[in-house]
Amino acid sequence: MRKERETRSRFLRVKCTDCENEQIVFDHASTSVKCNVCGRTLVVPRGGKAEITSEIIEILE
Ligand SMILES: [Zn+2]
Repeated sequence: MRKERETRSRFLRVKCTDCENEQIVFDHASTSVKCNVCGRTLVVPRGGKAEITSEIIEILE
């Protein structure tokens, strides 16, 4: 029996839309994540699945 479907979460490879820096982020981040290069906000926490405010280029499972 599988019970963990509600907690499914992933890491995403995203690209900053300002400086094109690529970074790995967590899609259930509880704090905002900023670009390591220019400081642009890439992920905004939403109390569950986070809002990705940059370009997702790959989903890592
Ligand atoms: Zn950037």
